[in-house]
Amino acid sequence: MKSIDQVDINGKRVLIRVDFNVPLDENGNVTDDTRIKAHFPTINYCLDRNAKVVLMSHMGRPKGVRVDKLSLKPVADRLSKLMGRGITFTDDCIGEKVEAAVAAMNEGDIVLLENLRFHIGDEKNDGEFARALARLCDVYVDDAFAVSHRKAASNTAITEFVKVCAAGFLLKNEIDYFQKAMGNPERPLAAIIGGAKVSDKIGVLENLIEKVDRLVVGGGMAFTFLNALGYEIGNSLCEKEMLDKARTIMDKAKAKNVKLCLPVDCIVAEKASADAETKVCKVEEIPKDGIGLDIGPATITLFSDSLKDAKTIVWNGPMGMFEIDKFSKGTYAVASSVAASGALSIIGGGDTDSAVHRAGVSSRISYISTGGGAFLELLEGKTMPAVEALEKCGG
Ligand code: AMP
Repeated sequence: MKSIDQVDINGKRVLIRVDFNVPLDENGNVTDDTRIKAHFPTINYCLDRNAKVVLMSHMGRPKGVRVDKLSLKPVADRLSKLMGRGITFTDDCIGEKVEAAVAAMNEGDIVLLENLRFHIGDEKNDGEFARALARLCDVYVDDAFAVSHRKAASNTAITEFVKVCAAGFLLKNEIDYFQKAMGNPERPLAAIIGGAKVSDKIGVLENLIEKVDRLVVGGGMAFTFLNALGYEIGNSLCEKEMLDKARTIMDKAKAKNVKLCLPVDCIVAEKASADAETKVCKVEEIPKDGIGLDIGPATITLFSDSLKDAKTIVWNGPMGMFEIDKFSKGTYAVASSVAASGALSIIGGGDTDSAVHRAGVSSRISYISTGGGAFLELLEGKTMPAVEALEKCGG
């Protein structure tokens, strides 16, 4: 896969697939512009080389029809404010008018196209739609890691119609860091997996168990593992249909000499709410009416110890119901342990991202992935169609 700094973009029309799918409030104002700023290195690199920069993105899931609330116009306004310059916004992403707007661009101009998903062709990876997009550029750049696990005309089919294709810096960074962590990692390699359900992450666990030296399992999903070991877990989350899978993972860990760390104690309450009374219970003493909602202090020590000398750490998913303060301590403690380990650390997923920020350790994490679903699919060992398409195109 070529990266943007390996192709000639000087003075050219460069069409960049970005992920501007940002949260909006009910008045249509952007409430968090992190995703917009994440593309600045790529956009600024193009501007520095006098390229004509055409940006395209999706917003929400309009399913092929125009939905005014999902217009990218508010994003154009925020982008313009952030960059302190004018941005041309086109009210469609393909067609004669859009082509005319691009034809009228000067070097160093920026055009943002309207929501790609107002046309069904994008999510359908439709060739005609891709061809219409391709007419807008000399060079295609994919910088939207967060959607690279989904085939779309704007990240896959388009590579068949543009001669020069490359990865932007955000996409390249994501893939490079992930390769460093999982391709040929410095060992010991530890993975921390948390969150609600085993069923959501079974593919991840099955893939990781083949690759890691240590697997730390916390969050709601740990209770299915504990139940599979014969512990009574009260009203804690448990997926009975996943018990066999959990046993298989544990057997594999033994056979492969992977150290599997499960909670030894937890914070228990009768209900999952901020006003619930809590107590610390060993996992063998969880009461019948109790719900395990966070890892306990002994588990924090156990998990921290197993991360101390790790050289590489990947992490997805909180250790408890961390949205409620009372059940957030375990997740923050693990965040601090990851930061303190000095390992190459890569985390992904919205909850994990917000946890390291709230724990105040984000600057000591080596890389925070911008893709939730895409990051999980990489952890599952899947190939990303958009990355494959760029590799095939070869520049
Ligand atoms: P996921 O999207 O699978 O990473 O799950 C994240 C969600 O798991 C968060 O909303 C947490 O509140 C929830 N969660 C984590 N631990 C627990 C637990 N012990 N019991 C219930 N929910 C949990």
